[in-house]
Amino acid sequence: MRDVIIIGAGAVGCTIARELAFTRLDVLVLEKECDVAAGTTGRNSAVVHAGFNNRPGSLMARLCVEGSRGMEALCRELDVPYRKTGKVLVAFDEEDVEILRRLKAQGEANGARGLRLIGKEELERMVPGVGGIGGFYSPETAILDPFKYCIAMAENAAENGAEFRFEEEVTGIRREDGGFTVTTGKGEYRCRVLINSAGLYADKVSAMAGVDDYHIYPCRGEYFILDEVADELLQMPVYPALKPGIGGLGVHLTPTVHRNIIVGPSAEYIDEADDYACTPPVMDKLWQEAQALLPALKRRYIIGNYSGIRAKLAPENEGGYRDFVIKEEEACPGLINLVGIESPGLTASRPIARMVREMVGKRLPLEEKENAVRTHRFPPVFAKLAREEQDRLIREDPEYGEIVCRCRRVTKAEIRQAIENPLGARSLSAVKYRAWATTGRCNGGYCLNRIVDMLVREYGMRPEDVTLRGPGSEMFSGEVK
Ligand SMILES: Cc1cc2nc3c(=O)[nH]c(=O)nc-3n(C[C@H](O)[C@H](O)[C@H](O)COP(=O)(O)OP(=O)(O)OC[C@H]3O[C@@H](n4cnc5c(N)ncnc54)[C@H](O)[C@@H]3O)c2cc1C
Repeated sequence: MRDVIIIGAGAVGCTIARELAFTRLDVLVLEKECDVAAGTTGRNSAVVHAGFNNRPGSLMARLCVEGSRGMEALCRELDVPYRKTGKVLVAFDEEDVEILRRLKAQGEANGARGLRLIGKEELERMVPGVGGIGGFYSPETAILDPFKYCIAMAENAAENGAEFRFEEEVTGIRREDGGFTVTTGKGEYRCRVLINSAGLYADKVSAMAGVDDYHIYPCRGEYFILDEVADELLQMPVYPALKPGIGGLGVHLTPTVHRNIIVGPSAEYIDEADDYACTPPVMDKLWQEAQALLPALKRRYIIGNYSGIRAKLAPENEGGYRDFVIKEEEACPGLINLVGIESPGLTASRPIARMVREMVGKRLPLEEKENAVRTHRFPPVFAKLAREEQDRLIREDPEYGEIVCRCRRVTKAEIRQAIENPLGARSLSAVKYRAWATTGRCNGGYCLNRIVDMLVREYGMRPEDVTLRGPGSEMFSGEVK
C-alpha cells in the first residue's frame, strides 16, 4: 500500500512528486510513455507567463502569477536553463490598442508586475523589424527549457525517494478499503491517495475512478522550429494583441533558451488527443501570420516542426477558456483531480503542486524529511564552458574530446551521461532532450547513427530494441547486407 500514486509524469505530476518527496510519504508515479515530459509538457511555447492573460479571480491567474514569481529561483535550484526576456504584444490598429489597454488592467488586477503600454518607437527599439503602431510590454515574462524542467523535477523527486515507473498506462481504478487499486498493463498498485495528473486523458482517468464529470476537448497547436537565429532576429517573445475567443494566445514568435525561434501555435479543435500531425494548410497560414509580425523571417530558417495539444475544458463553440479544475472529489474521497491544465500550466506547476500537497495533507500526515535534497545539478554542457574548463574535462575524460552531434557540439561524454540518466529512460528522445543532441539543422543526420551505435555496442541493446519514443517507435527491423 503506497501513500500516494500520481498518474502522469508531465511538469505537473513531476512537480507534485517532488513536493511530496520532501515528506515521509511513499510516492509512486505511473506514466504511460517511456519518459517524463512526453505529453503537453514537451510540446508548448516554453514561456513563463507573467499572469495577464487570465481572468482576475481565477485559479489560472493566481497560480500563474505565483509560479512566474518563483520560477527564476526554482530554475536556479534545479539547474534548469531560464532567461527573463520580457515580452511584447503588438497592436496593429486602434482596436488592438484597446485590447492591450484592457489586458494591462487585467494583468494589474492579477498582480503581474511592471506592465506598460509602449509607443511605436519603443516597440521598434525592443523588437526591431516588427510592424505595428504600438504595443504592450511585460518585463517579467521569461523562457525556460521545459524538458530539463520536468527531468530535473523528476530526478530530484527520485533522489528523495519517489519512484517512477514508465510504460505503465493506467487502465483501471477500483476504490476499496479506504484506498484505491490501480491497474496498469503490467500489474496492480494500491494507494491511499490517488492524484490524477494525466493531462489530455485526465477526464478518462477520472471516469475510471467513477467521477465521469469532465470532457476534454483536444485543441492542437502547430509550430515551426527555426534555426539558431534568435540572437540576430528576436530578443524576446512577440505576440499579437490577444483576441478573445480564439482558444489560444495567437500565433507568436518565441526565442528559446537554445537560441532557436519557435513560430506558432495555431489553434484547431481535433477529435483525437494524440493526433500530433502538422498539416500543410495550417502551417501555411501560420507562416503568413508569423511574417505579418516579423517580415524578416525567411523560410530557409525552418529546421523542423511539432505540435502540442491543449487539454481544453471549453468546447469550440464556447471559445476561450475555462479555469483549471484542481480538487479532491467529494464523490470519491482520496481522489485529487487535475483537469483542464492548459496554458499557463507549465508556469503554474509549482503553485499547483503546493496546492495539491495541502490537499494530500488533509488525508495523510505531511512530515518533512530532515535530509531532503532540494537542489539538483545536470552534467555540464560542454559547448557552453570556457576553453580552460573544456581542456580540463578532456584531460579527465577523453570522451569530452569527441564531438558526436556537430550542430550542437555535443560530446560523447555528454551522450553517455544522458544514456545513463537516473530515471533509466533509454529511448533516442530521452538522449535528445537531456544532451540536446539531434536538435540542430541536420536533424540528427550526422549524430543519430552514432548515438544508436553507442546504445548497441556499449549498452548491449539490440538494434531492433532501439526506439525513438518507446514501444511502437522502433527504428530498425533487422540486418541488411
Ligand atoms: C500549444 C501549447 C502551448 C503552451 N504554451 C505554454 C507556455 O508557453 N507556458 C505555459 O506555462 N504553459 C503552456 N502550455 C500549457 C502547458 O504545456 C501545460 O499546462 C502543462 O504542460 C501541463 O502539464 P501536465 O503535467 O498537466 O500534462 P502533460 O505534460 O500532458 O502530462 C500528463 C502525462 O500523463 C500521462 N498519461 C495520460 N494518461 C495516462 C494513463 N492512463 N496512465 C499513465 N499515464 C498517463 C501522459 O502520457 C503525460 O505524460 C501550452 C500548451 C500547449 C498545448
